[in-house]
Amino acid sequence: MADAQDILSLCKRRGFLYPSFEIYGGVAGMYDYGPLGTALKNNIIEIWRRLYTLGEGFIEIDSETINPEIVFKASGHVDEFADKMVRCKVCSDAFRADHLVIEYHPNAGALKDKELDELIRINKVVCPACSGGLSSVEEFNLMFKTNIGPGSGRVGYIRPETAQGIFVNFPNLYRYNREKLPLGVIQVGRGYRNEISPRQGIIRLREFNMMECELFIDGEDKTWPRFDDVSSETLRLLANDGLEMEISIGDAVDQGIICNQVLAYFMWLTQEFLKAVGVDEERLRFRQHERDEMAHYAADCWDVESLLSYGWTEIVGIADRGCWDLSRHSQFSGVEMSSFKRLDEPQEMEIDRIKPRYDKLGPMYKGKAGKIGEVLEEADPVEVKDGSIIIEIDGEDIAISDELFEVVRVKEKVTGVRSIPHVIEPSYGLDRIIYTILEHAYSKKDDQTLLSLKQTVAPIKVGVFPLMARDGLDDLAKDIDQELRYSGIETYYDDSGSIGRRYARMDEIGTPWCITVDYQTREDGTVTIRERDTSSQVRVRFDEILDVVRAALCDVDLSMFAVE
Ligand code: AMP
Repeated sequence: MADAQDILSLCKRRGFLYPSFEIYGGVAGMYDYGPLGTALKNNIIEIWRRLYTLGEGFIEIDSETINPEIVFKASGHVDEFADKMVRCKVCSDAFRADHLVIEYHPNAGALKDKELDELIRINKVVCPACSGGLSSVEEFNLMFKTNIGPGSGRVGYIRPETAQGIFVNFPNLYRYNREKLPLGVIQVGRGYRNEISPRQGIIRLREFNMMECELFIDGEDKTWPRFDDVSSETLRLLANDGLEMEISIGDAVDQGIICNQVLAYFMWLTQEFLKAVGVDEERLRFRQHERDEMAHYAADCWDVESLLSYGWTEIVGIADRGCWDLSRHSQFSGVEMSSFKRLDEPQEMEIDRIKPRYDKLGPMYKGKAGKIGEVLEEADPVEVKDGSIIIEIDGEDIAISDELFEVVRVKEKVTGVRSIPHVIEPSYGLDRIIYTILEHAYSKKDDQTLLSLKQTVAPIKVGVFPLMARDGLDDLAKDIDQELRYSGIETYYDDSGSIGRRYARMDEIGTPWCITVDYQTREDGTVTIRERDTSSQVRVRFDEILDVVRAALCDVDLSMFAVE
């Protein structure tokens, strides 16, 4: 297996990743993407984006990274988004308590403070840095806190995930979607978590890249139109009863291992995406959360894990979050977050209505009483809170006490019902996917590094070399290089060192093809094109190269996800 240090040093040497603020000594858990890393990242994002927008018809938004406190009060992050921390009593270093006892418990991440304290005590765990004694476990909230505006301003947090930006926009997005479900929304952006002890290169960062998808569906109908087309496709599952299996998604849903079709479909889609960008399917599995690991509102939750030199590592989380997110934001904002489902035929149903008490409204509100009564009759009884309801009359909000109306149950013909949509959330950690792709593509033979990146994600597609930097070969090669670049193919022109060295440099950064211009090119317009993984070379006419390269890059299109 590749060594993580080899990969991180390749990343730095060749411009994939640089430790941030290196000239000032760096900051743990912070990395910058260099030119090759940025290109690789953008290529992956573009494939993902196309898969969801063009392939599944989802829409994309770009929301704020700084949010007012109430957003994260509603989401539960202010109260709950904490890791368990211990400090060394001698050197004061801080550590994740669950990481320190990982070898003593199969699921240390799910343990409570007292249980962790006990494990640390029984196993005599000490500070990994200086062997000092450890403090008892305390909660450390992972969000970065800030102020919005000058002075003490208004408390805000930098988002720990992109998802809340989608949830708080639900009313806008639902309207945009002409009030229809399913509604799939994606967002690509940074998430910020003040990790206690970031480690393992870009696996645990304090500022990281996410690609998140929130799919709003009718909670009563968790079927998916394309499910039958892919139901025989298989996944490798590690269910929370400990059983590991290779099973079709159809059987997994029928046997109740995956809780519904929508979740299963997006697990399959995630697997296909990961394979397409270069994650080795032999080193990929779906691990179901333990009951006590899952958020209390979640119906089912799976981590997509890849096998790395660090061990099995979560790279994507996929959850059925029920109606938690929208219910909470509705509750905290007072804004309706429901969808309307039209019934096939109107049905008689018992519903609650507000009946104004005109005998009391009249003496109190005089001339306005009639108008207040009309607005009350239209108001939704769920809006009655703490003994009153707020209604708007002539642009002014007034609170009407519940002595002035009754809530009565009546039979009415209704054309549809309102309910809070459920959310299926596939959440992709882009940096971890990038690291996985690099590690799975990496090999070394006789001191020569080969990065077998998929052509579609490779930062540079073609190396262009003149055999000699003279006799007009360099000008010819530069023309070829320019033509490729102008037609949208990333190239790297190199005329220094031996051809062997130039090939080696391209192999090391995953460039799939190299074109060499030699003396014969001047005679007949042919060049050699070398393929990275096999080192095989063929001679082709230069004017056919564009077609050759384009044909090979063509699997970037969505047909790779098409169902036969
Ligand atoms: P979560 O919301 O915790 O399920 O995170 C979603 C995804 O983001 C995970 O599957 C990880 O791939 C990724 N992720 C979470 N925390 C970090 C971090 N500190 N650094 C890098 N990636 C992370």
